[in-house]
Amino acid sequence: MAIRLWVHCNCLKHGKYKPLPKEINSFVKIEDNSCYFSYPETKPDQLPTEEIVDRYEKEWIIFQDWKNNACKHGNNFTLEEITIGQWSLNVLDYALSKLPSGYNDLQALDSFYINLNGEIYETSSDNGLFSPLECKEFISDIKGFNKKVKTSQLSMVCIEDCDNNYEFQKTIEGRLKWLAGYDKFTLKFDENGFIILRDNRDNVYEDDVIFRSKYFSQKETAEINEEGITRWKIIDIESGKEYLTDGEHLEYRNQKKAKQKWIIPDRIKVKIRKATPADFEYLTKPLEAVFSASVRSGNFVFIG
Ligand SMILES: [Zn+2]
Repeated sequence: MAIRLWVHCNCLKHGKYKPLPKEINSFVKIEDNSCYFSYPETKPDQLPTEEIVDRYEKEWIIFQDWKNNACKHGNNFTLEEITIGQWSLNVLDYALSKLPSGYNDLQALDSFYINLNGEIYETSSDNGLFSPLECKEFISDIKGFNKKVKTSQLSMVCIEDCDNNYEFQKTIEGRLKWLAGYDKFTLKFDENGFIILRDNRDNVYEDDVIFRSKYFSQKETAEINEEGITRWKIIDIESGKEYLTDGEHLEYRNQKKAKQKWIIPDRIKVKIRKATPADFEYLTKPLEAVFSASVRSGNFVFIG
């Protein structure tokens, strides 16, 4: 599950938009900085005629096209929009529970709540909205969260390409992270190392652990399994223990380099280091952007 937060611009309110196409005039209602597409009002108990229904369907498409290009912000008069995945929220929640005076409650991360700096924010209405005033508070709480992370004992577990020391996966110590799932195997990691598990299960049962290592290499072999997939050899560098996979191996794309192709690292390390505010930027930066847009425009943050 993911949640989406967005803020509308003021172009509708200030009349700074492309004129409405004539044919959709009777269906569109503009109020403040929102626009609605609906049937023209009919008498009570009177159903829209077939002709109206027909027009509605055709003109709905024209409306969509218009509102996605009607102002310089495009995208349905949206100033800022972000989508946050459940994993990101879970990691944030876990980090908060480990921080001094943290709050530990996954329930708090329902669609209509955001949990920052150890506090829970409930939206100000049932519609799922945050006011610009609340947003101002959230921004200062993000700063507080960053400060707390800096001084905390929070640790990150990272999977690193030994050739260039690039961390291509990370999780918080104590939180197992799922990397990939296949028919027969699942790849995961935590502070105890990278693991290959039999079956695709949520929990780690020691009996199901086929391979575990904190420092290993991976090599493509000449062997092909019955499904025609090239098998890979994964070797724990310290013990020399080997495991032949049915194609499973690790690869990544360097997030900092645009257009980079997939990289298959030769040697991989699982390391633990102190967490920094930068580890949570993937979440705090977009949240800050959407909250700032609300403060700037004076408009509410919508949540869906
Ligand atoms: Zn706009």
